[in-house]
Amino acid sequence: MKIDLHIHSRVSDGTDSPTAVVVAAAQRGLDVIALTDHDTLDGVAEAQEAGRRLGVRVVVGLEMSTHVDGVQVHLLGYGLNPRNRNLLAELALTRQARLARVPRIVQKLQDLGLKITVEDVAARAVAVPTLGRPHVADALVHLGVVRNRDEAFSRFLSDDAPAYVGYEAPALPDAIGLIHGAGGAAVLAHPWARASRHVLDTPTIERLAREHGLDGVEVDHQDHDDATRELLGELVDRLGLIRVGSSDYHGIGKPRHHLGAHLTAPSAFAALTARVRARGGTM
Ligand code: AMP
Ligand code: ZN
Ligand code: FE
Ligand code: FE
Repeated sequence: MKIDLHIHSRVSDGTDSPTAVVVAAAQRGLDVIALTDHDTLDGVAEAQEAGRRLGVRVVVGLEMSTHVDGVQVHLLGYGLNPRNRNLLAELALTRQARLARVPRIVQKLQDLGLKITVEDVAARAVAVPTLGRPHVADALVHLGVVRNRDEAFSRFLSDDAPAYVGYEAPALPDAIGLIHGAGGAAVLAHPWARASRHVLDTPTIERLAREHGLDGVEVDHQDHDDATRELLGELVDRLGLIRVGSSDYHGIGKPRHHLGAHLTAPSAFAALTARVRARGGTM
């Protein structure tokens, strides 16, 4: 059983349609996937339809933007009710905050002397519900300023680069509560990659598990090196959390994140399924 539970489509900042994601998953021999677009569930129904045709089980999923001490932290949600009102309302607010920051990023880029407009970004994200820095990066590629998203991030867009702008999102414990309230399971995404490592120290993860019912942690991820995976794996075992592994596939938007590059063990998937069923969700 091959299970990959963290995948993006062009409903957020991936480059494949939800159907194309499932076609690629079938070609790779994956049995179970979750489509986890940023702050939206809009692609899931299309992916599930394709999954029924192609024999791939598609779990309802998303990757929520959240905050810990002002630092952006990503939280994966699985098996939740895609019509839950509280969750949908919060996601709409986050998407609005993402939209509102685009002109501020563009302004910073203009201040750096680049000829880029909000329309250039909009043209790279037609009918995309969740706008993000990758779409700004795509506009910079299209304008010939950089060669690829990676270069756009390292020169302009990453958290410590000159055109960085943050956005409002729920606090992490509140986001866990929203996912649980919608019947789902909550899994910390790539916690020890990039900036989130500094706010998600061991005592913090321990508290999230004990006080807020965090269900699992994405341990096996491209942005965690072997030593990080070993340490995080020990922590997860000690706390009785579920160990998730996944690709964080973004199509050609992140060329090193191959579909199925990291997988979730069937026993871990069964544990997730049990938690979701206990909360009234569906896997
Ligand atoms: P945002 O959601 O606007 O904060 O942008 C962050 C997203 O950009 C992440 O979730 C990744 O999907 C993507 N990202 C981060 N770094 C890179 C990079 N170096 N190249 C391509 N995509 C990236
Ligand atoms: Zn992404
Ligand atoms: Fe993420
Ligand atoms: Fe992701």
